[in-house]
Amino acid sequence: MKSVVIERPEVLRVQERERPQPTAGQVRVKVRYASICGSDVHIWHGHNPFARYPRVIGHEFFGVIDAVGEGVDAARLGERVAVDPVVSCGHCYPCSVGRPNVCSALQVIGVHLDGGFSEYALAPSGNAYKLPESIPDRLASLIEPFTIAANITAFLNPTGQDIALVYGAGPMGLTAVQVLKGVYGVKQVIVTDRLPERLAMAQDNGADRVINNSEISLAEQLAGIQPTLIIDAACHPSILPEAIALASPAARIGLLGFSGDTCAITQQSLTSKELSLFTSRLNSRRFPQVIEWINQGHIQPAKLVTHTLPLSQIEQAMTLFEKQPRTCCKVIIEMD
Ligand SMILES: [Zn+2]
Ligand SMILES: [Zn+2]
Repeated sequence: MKSVVIERPEVLRVQERERPQPTAGQVRVKVRYASICGSDVHIWHGHNPFARYPRVIGHEFFGVIDAVGEGVDAARLGERVAVDPVVSCGHCYPCSVGRPNVCSALQVIGVHLDGGFSEYALAPSGNAYKLPESIPDRLASLIEPFTIAANITAFLNPTGQDIALVYGAGPMGLTAVQVLKGVYGVKQVIVTDRLPERLAMAQDNGADRVINNSEISLAEQLAGIQPTLIIDAACHPSILPEAIALASPAARIGLLGFSGDTCAITQQSLTSKELSLFTSRLNSRRFPQVIEWINQGHIQPAKLVTHTLPLSQIEQAMTLFEKQPRTCCKVIIEMD
């Protein structure tokens, strides 16, 4: 089978590998479509501290179960499935309180384990979610990025009263916008970014107002509007202090970033407004929820897709994703 392997940082190859055999409790998925995420690019360039090399990357993928390991019902053969990349132990403290995404022994498919940019991929059977016919094959890999938005919004508990501010109109920001508007019916969603093309995408994804903060500060343009809910999907360490300053009293702030750099905030800036700060990593069993949202028409994954390329052009596809943020949002990889 063909697999996209990062042999070591900066060395990407499409390799011919042996088709893997599912072990007990696993299914093998014949992958049909996958999509590129920022973290795939980070593993390629050696910027993901969790990655082990060589690694088959790809954690957003869809396919059909074509083999099952011992103990898995053979009736699942032929099932159309989206795969949750979060593999957890099931018995540590975080797992016991429904937070497998921060399992003490966390393994992520495509990061710690071989992933879905491959003709075949293995997953625990419980991570392979059967899809309704209403979700087309070519959009099914986008369930995973929406689970990121599902996870953080579950902490933030948005309501129809909220004025939400989303930093960053990349894939993470855009999925958040769709969920805030389409699922929670938030009163107003404001999106800020430095690229006008990305802000146009934000409007297309449901943003009520967009603000380009490349020249005039966000504070000046908000002119006293105090967001009640803020999501940092741009993930720069300078954003948190600004978000705290702009937030309404009693606001909630959600962080998705993974920067190791410090940022300066004071207790007073948080406590005086009794702000709530939430962080969110990956997703905690949110696939069924997102599948239902798509099924009900609350979110539109098709709005994120700008390109489709075959697996053989993976390097061009990843370069496009990385270097052309004005024209490129989600890239779908089609298995040849
Ligand atoms: Zn991702
Ligand atoms: Zn665990």
